[in-house]
Amino acid sequence: MGTKTSKIYDVAVIGAGHAGIEAGLAAARLGAKTAVFTINMDAVGNCPCNPSIGGTAKGHLVREIDALGGEMGKTTDQCFIQSRMLNRGKGPAVHSLRAQIDRREYADIMKRKLEKQENLELRQAEITDIEQKDGVWLLQTRNGMIYESKTVVIATGTFLGGRIFIGEVSYESGPDGIFPARFLGVALKKLGLPLRRFKTGTPARVLRRSINLDVLEPQPGDTPPEPFSYETEDLGDNKADCYISYTNDITKEIILKNIHRSAMYSGKIEGVGPRYCPSIEDKIVRFADKPRHQLFIEPCGMNTEEMYLQGMSSSLPEEVQIEFYRSIKGLENAHITRPAYAIEYDCVDPTAMFATLEFKTLQGLYGAGQFNGSSGYEEAAAQGLVAGINAARQAQGKEQIVFERANSYIGTLIDDLVTKGCSDPYRMMTSRSEYRLILRQDNADERLTPLGFELGLITPERYEKFKKSAEQKANEIKRAEKTVLQPTEELNKIIVSRETSPVEQPVRLADLLRRPQLSYDDLTAVDITRPSLPKRIFEQAEIEIKYEGYIKKQQEAVARAKKLEQKQLPQTTDYSQIKGLRLEAQEKLNKIKPQNIGQASRVSGVTPADVSVLLIWLSSRK
Ligand SMILES: Cc1cc2nc3c(=O)[nH]c(=O)nc-3n(C[C@H](O)[C@H](O)[C@H](O)COP(=O)(O)OP(=O)(O)OC[C@H]3O[C@@H](n4cnc5c(N)ncnc54)[C@H](O)[C@@H]3O)c2cc1C
Repeated sequence: MGTKTSKIYDVAVIGAGHAGIEAGLAAARLGAKTAVFTINMDAVGNCPCNPSIGGTAKGHLVREIDALGGEMGKTTDQCFIQSRMLNRGKGPAVHSLRAQIDRREYADIMKRKLEKQENLELRQAEITDIEQKDGVWLLQTRNGMIYESKTVVIATGTFLGGRIFIGEVSYESGPDGIFPARFLGVALKKLGLPLRRFKTGTPARVLRRSINLDVLEPQPGDTPPEPFSYETEDLGDNKADCYISYTNDITKEIILKNIHRSAMYSGKIEGVGPRYCPSIEDKIVRFADKPRHQLFIEPCGMNTEEMYLQGMSSSLPEEVQIEFYRSIKGLENAHITRPAYAIEYDCVDPTAMFATLEFKTLQGLYGAGQFNGSSGYEEAAAQGLVAGINAARQAQGKEQIVFERANSYIGTLIDDLVTKGCSDPYRMMTSRSEYRLILRQDNADERLTPLGFELGLITPERYEKFKKSAEQKANEIKRAEKTVLQPTEELNKIIVSRETSPVEQPVRLADLLRRPQLSYDDLTAVDITRPSLPKRIFEQAEIEIKYEGYIKKQQEAVARAKKLEQKQLPQTTDYSQIKGLRLEAQEKLNKIKPQNIGQASRVSGVTPADVSVLLIWLSSRK
């Protein structure tokens, strides 16, 4: 091996993408001597796909990252172009914030935060080899340098063994023309990591002035726009619109005529693609009865003319792309600045990790982000934060943190990955949580900020601010329960206008709020003792009053599940020796080695009957 540097780091992070950034910042902020490596300094925090942060369930992750003291939410607020709360027409469990961002500015802000961070050294260097000697990890760079570290976080994204596909053409590359990581995969296989090939795809970028926006439906942001971060005081106004268009029969015809030339359909790509982010080819083939497919035309930034075609990723040849994009209303004269492409890359089977994101067989080695089999900036950042926290605590000899699925989407994401694994890139969705009514995006701070403070990632000032708003909400709920409104004409006029039955007796404010048709906004005129509080406090109070019964039920389910999570299972258990366990359960449990009965019950192929056998076996052992 090459030239050793004199320093031993506590944490070395391979990757400065969405996972690597959160991992590096968290580790350094917890006092760990941290090194962050990236192939290209000018691509730190790059968004190689959609120029937006958040969306259904992804918005929940961003709020949780912020509540813990992570960076993604704050940076998004600093460079947002437009923000919308999705699913407002549905229940609060699926309300999700989504912000269009200036992707160039996002990357610059994140790079600057890494550069300014105490205890953190950011370096452009490709890690080509890695091994552990005497409990210390040795990382070799392409230039022959050796860096030593107590722990390592692998967050290589879509670069590891990266290969691009555009129709019949394919070549080794990372996203956005950056060269791939060609060597590290070999070293990771030598360490015994179970690598496999996944793929994802992105649409073309088109020059704004070549699009006829006048014929398209604009999609403005919410007024006022809502911030992601609890630290953001004033977000300012939306800066630009998105636009909506649709494919048509001609688009369909062109794509079907050339489907054999799509890398996906010609069998050129072996990697498995994301089920929930299908390419336009996939949509047209899988949903053949659908006459048209919607696309969103989104600005990539305020200092660029590039527009992103959301929902139109493809791996058809470039000339076919030009033809089918130009068949779409508004894009008749589209000038493509970057063609759509698919990328295949190496990632690991996440069941090889504990819920701390440390590899079961390699102490001090962690995985995060796309490398773990997930897809998305938000999923990556959430895992990076957890891996960074645990790598730092490992290096400092402290207990590692496991995030529970009953307390966060971060916990749900990681538990799903390490317990169930994933056969295609894992995208977070609210339906993945059995507790989504209590894991809302509006109460992320209540669920996670105390832990963030305990860990040392949330400042005392921020913690005081959090406690104050929690107290305000609790007091507001008490006030609503105590406040009695008289059955005045004015009150009943409001009630009837919201199509619910008038009242004849004095009524408690909370009882009115329990009616689905009535909200704080409706009752402003008659709620005269209402204190002046941030809008967010009333929104939260209203949700907790309205959904009190459901929330209580979910909390009882959490309490029941917690009992099973507390029944620890020894890692040395040989499940083939447990009488009464079905063969499939024995095999799956021996592969996953669950930490407790709760996790065992979620291993795919383990039935409730198997769980009963395990419970009896466990109590007999005692
Ligand atoms: C073409 C494409 C399409 C996508 N489509 C979607 C989509 O539709 N939906 C969605 O949710 N997400 C999509 N994504 C995924 C999204 O970009 C990623 O999920 C996200 O960027 C992952 O973040 P990450 O931190 O894991 O990795 P990345 O952001 O890829 O960052 C990886 C980092 O690792 C560094 N690195 C890699 N190997 C080495 C090495 N050996 N030495 C040093 N540094 C190294 C790189 O320089 C980079 O800094 C797409 C990505 C691409 C490229």
